[in-house]
Parts: sequence; structure tokens; C-alpha cells
Amino acid sequence: MSSDKEAVLARYRAERDKRLRPDGNAQYLETTGSFAHFLDDPYTPRVEREPLTDHVTFAMVGGGFAGLAVGARLVEAGITDVRIIDKAGDFGGNWYWNRYPGAQCDTASIIYLPLLEETGHMPTEKYAHAPEILEQSRRIGRTFGLYDKALFHTRVDDMVWDDERGVWVITTDRGDRFTADYIGMGTGPLHVPKLPGIPGIETYKGHSFHTSRWDYDYTGGDTNGAPLDKLGDKRVAIIGTGATSVQCVPHVARAAETLYVVQRTPSSVDVRANAPIDPDWFAGIATPGWQKRWLDNFAANIGLWPVPSEDLVQDGWTDLTRRIRARVMDLPPEQMNPAGMMAAYEDADIEKMSEIRARAEAIVEDKETAENLKAWYRQLCKRPCFHDAYLQAFNEPGTHLIDTGGKGVERIDETGFWVGGKHYEVDCIVYASGFEVGTSHERRAGFDIAGVGGRRLSEAWSEGMRTFHGLHVHGFPNAFIVQFAQAANFIVNVPHNWTDAGDTIAAVVRHAQETGAARVDADAGAQEDWVKFLMTGPGMMAGAAPDCTPGYYNNEGLARDERAAFAVGHPAGATAFFKYIDDWRKSGEFKGLVFEKAG
Ligand code: NDP
Repeated sequence: MSSDKEAVLARYRAERDKRLRPDGNAQYLETTGSFAHFLDDPYTPRVEREPLTDHVTFAMVGGGFAGLAVGARLVEAGITDVRIIDKAGDFGGNWYWNRYPGAQCDTASIIYLPLLEETGHMPTEKYAHAPEILEQSRRIGRTFGLYDKALFHTRVDDMVWDDERGVWVITTDRGDRFTADYIGMGTGPLHVPKLPGIPGIETYKGHSFHTSRWDYDYTGGDTNGAPLDKLGDKRVAIIGTGATSVQCVPHVARAAETLYVVQRTPSSVDVRANAPIDPDWFAGIATPGWQKRWLDNFAANIGLWPVPSEDLVQDGWTDLTRRIRARVMDLPPEQMNPAGMMAAYEDADIEKMSEIRARAEAIVEDKETAENLKAWYRQLCKRPCFHDAYLQAFNEPGTHLIDTGGKGVERIDETGFWVGGKHYEVDCIVYASGFEVGTSHERRAGFDIAGVGGRRLSEAWSEGMRTFHGLHVHGFPNAFIVQFAQAANFIVNVPHNWTDAGDTIAAVVRHAQETGAARVDADAGAQEDWVKFLMTGPGMMAGAAPDCTPGYYNNEGLARDERAAFAVGHPAGATAFFKYIDDWRKSGEFKGLVFEKAG
């Protein structure tokens, strides 16, 4: 190994070690108690309604992209009696809640926005802004008639399988007690806001909110990008420098009298190169089946093998893979082994990260600030960011990076925060501190479904997640858990997983109806075989490695218990899974599922 590479890796380790802390996920605070108001819905008034006691064919929890994609595919298959339930006041999921200034997708709209072809929408920009993404959610709702039965501002309390009647009984915080033949869970991976467990956080007397409930009444401006005109005489702190902060900092920097961006770990911020989409160009590519072709092409370009003939999307995500692939291809035959490939990956990554660090140096005028904005870890250790105004924001005279040397804010008091023994008085603290990831599935969902014999999903998964195709769980008939582990596990373009799951669910329910089956369950043996097959793969993604800087990708740098080993995807990658499941659906045999008639 060259001495340069050795030095970079040593720096990575040193930076990681500074950040390791024994409390891991326990360092964060739940948005409960005196912080419960942080979760109030600032966007839609709650409307009272009578509790429901009726029956629907399909009840889907979550009105984000997952629920919408499943709902749309069911309706396309002729199953129109679909009820989507969401705690928000409308469809949109994360995009309902996240309306902070500058919010936009980080994966190209053309593949990130679901069902573009079906809804006839052309994205306006390569990376669409939040209002357009929210509107696409609503458009899906309207196009497929999903509003008719939807329940908003409604939290599911419980979902229990009634074996005798062969239905799911759903209860909610609105007093509903209705039944469904089938249920789906599309509760999403990142929707429970968390707060940093900074000593004294509860004593702060100024204004404060979490980025996922942006307070435009306080800041002025709006989600469409109008200037935050009430901040002109305000000192604002944004705590956190993840993907959310990177997007909202430029807007606050432009508006506030003083902005302190409080950093524990810098994000890697690569080129964004957003641009409007040219309708003529779009008309040329939007031939029947176009979005699936683009989705498949992007997924293929994120995988190492086989090498796709073209890269349609051409962005920062595919660039990294292209570099890794090129280095691997260049390996001499004697180094074409796991160690050689890992070294090639590391070389490609160091090259990329050096460019990203150089970018910080080139853009940020103050040398110390530029140094502190350099990310010292492999790119996939943390969520990569892409932005053309974030680093530039630190050249605004009123904007100051407060680097905490990897330690975080020391404490908060009534008037502000402390870092490095220095007090900063502020009028407002914005928590860009992210969402719960490492907590249990049932804690994040807010309920724990009960299958045959009243067995809770948490019990079924007490020794780690067990599913068939990531979607079905033996003992939980007519239930579909829409998430990405044990399936494609495709985290770069998460909605691709959802439309694919929608295809499977619609095919399974349609098959059950056509064959007169009332109950569909995963065969126990098939589920065991599927999990065994998954475990033959390389394991978790590179970013989840313990030698990465701590974060939600790697359980905050702490050892995981054995159960976490099951959060993997198809051993041959996302494209292989999508191909496999498509063949499985098309075969019409639904091998591994057991269909039973009523009674
Ligand atoms: P993150 O969890 O990524 O970031 C939280 C930030 O808070 C980190 O910078 C963290 O530092 C910091 N922090 C936590 N505790 C402290 C503390 N005690 N003192 C100081 N700083 C602290 O949350 P985000 O909301 O930014 O992003 C979450 C995820 O949501 C993203 O990773 C992405 O997957 C998704 N997202 C997607 C977007 C898109 O597609 N357009 C846009 C925004 C988000 P540290 O890094 O040291 O832990």
C-alpha cells in the first residue's frame, strides 16, 4: 500500500475514533414528553369524523410512496377497494412532512418519482424540489382513486389476524375498528424524527423545531422557495450537517442575520448539477415502458456486474460505481480476488473523496472552515450529498461553521448552546438531527401486527428478521411488509423497491381472487430456504462497516447483535433480485406461497 493511501486510511481511523461513543443509538432523544409538540402537523387542520366499522379488501398503512405504489398496482389489477391509512393530513409520506426550504430529491427525479408514466407527469428538473414531489404523490392518489377511502390524521394502534373469520382487524386512534382481507405495511424507513441528546436541551427558551416540521410562521418564506424574510434580525443555529441540513443551510444563510451551522461530522458534498428537463428531450425518451427501462438501467449501473452498455441517468451515484468497476476490471488476474477487489474499491473511493475534499477547499474562502468541512471517511460510510450552494453558503458573512471536533454540542441552556467552552446565544435552534433508524420495527411503526395465534411480528423476528422475498412472513397470512431488506435492498433509489413490491402484491392478490383462495401465507420451508440463500451473500453494504465513521448506516459504530445480519439483500444484488422476482411473478406459480380456500 502506498504511504499516501496509508496516511488517508489512518486519518479515517483517527476521525472515526474521535466520534465513537458507548451509548450508540441511546444518545438520541425521542420526540415525546416536552418535545411531543415537535410532531404536530403544521400543514393540515385535523377534521373530526365518525369511527369506521366497515370492511375493505386491502388496508395499507402509510400513504407515502410505498402505500401509493401498492395502492396503484392493486387498482390497476382491478382491486379497487383499497384503504390507505396515514398519520399525516394527506398523501406524500416523508414528502408530506419534509417541506424545509430547499428540500429536493437526491436521486434523479426521472427514476425517483414513482409512476411517472402511469400518471403522465414529466419532472420539471433533474432533481425535483419537494412541492413537485408532494404533488406527484397527490397525483398518484387522484389518478388511481386512492383518496376515496383514505384515512388521514389516523394512527393505526393494532392489526390483528382473526383466524376464524379470515380477516385482519384494524384499530386506530380515531376509534375505528374495521376489517380487511389483506393488509400492507408501508411505514417507511425514516419517519420518526429524533433529537440529539444534548444535556440541557429541554431548558432552551428560544424558538426551536425539527426540520421535518419546518416552521414557516416563524421563519417567513414558504416551501416553494420564497425568502425566509422573518429571519433578517435573527440568530439561528442549525444542529446537524446531514442531507437535510445540506439542503436547507443555503436558504437560511441567505436570510438570517447570523447562522451557526453546528457540525459533528461533515457530509461529503459532491456536485449537484441540477438542470431543467427539456420537454423535447423528454418526449424523445418517453416511449412506452420508458420508466421501467430507466429504473432497471440505473439499478444495473449501481451494481458492479454485469456491466451495462449505457448509463442513462449519469449522476454522482453511477459515477462512483463506474470508477470502482473500472479499477476492478484493471486488476491483474492474480489480484481478482475479494482482497484485491476491496483494495480496488478503496482506491476508487479515495480518488473520489479526494476530489470532494478538494472541492471544499476550492469553494470555501476561509481556510479553517474549508478544512473542517472536509469529510474523512469512505463515501458510502455516510449518506453522500450533492449540492451546488451548501459549501458556498459558508462564504456568506453571517454564516459560521461551528465545528465540534466530532464531539457534538456540549450543552444547551436557556439562551443558546455551548461548543468548546464558548457560549453562542441564539433566537432559534433548528434540529436537523435526522430520524430513528436503529430502533425496533414496531417502535418506528407504532404498532406490532399479530398473526396466527396472536403471535406478534416482534416475537416472530425476536431472533432476527425472517421473510419470504422480504414481503411475506410465515404465520402472517394475507399480510405484506413493504420494505427493502431480504429483497433488492436497493437503497440508492428506494422507491424502485416500492413499485416492484406493488407488482408482486397485486399479482398475488389477483391470483388468490382468481383461484378463489381466501388465505395466502408463506410456506415455512420456503421462507427458511430464502433466508438461507440470502445468507450466502457478502453481507451488509460497505457503508455499514464498523470501521466507518459512526452514523445510522453502521449502528453508530457499535457492534450489532446477530439479528442485524439478516438485514441483507439478494446475494447477487438489486438487479438480480428484480429479475428473479419478475420471473417468479410471471411464472404464475407463486412457488413458496400457500393459497387456501375459505373454511
Ligand atoms: P442525519 O441523521 O443524516 O443527520 C443528522 C445530523 O445531526 C448529523 O450531522 C449528526 O452528526 C448530527 N447530530 C446528531 N447529534 C448531534 C449532536 N449531539 N451534536 C451535533 N450534531 C449532532 O439526518 P438528515 O435528516 O440529514 O438525513 C436523514 C436521511 O434522510 C438521509 O440520510 C437520507 O437518507 C434522507 N434524506 C434524503 C433526502 C433526499 O433524498 N433528498 C434529503 C434529506 C434527507 P453525525 O453525522 O456526527 O452523527
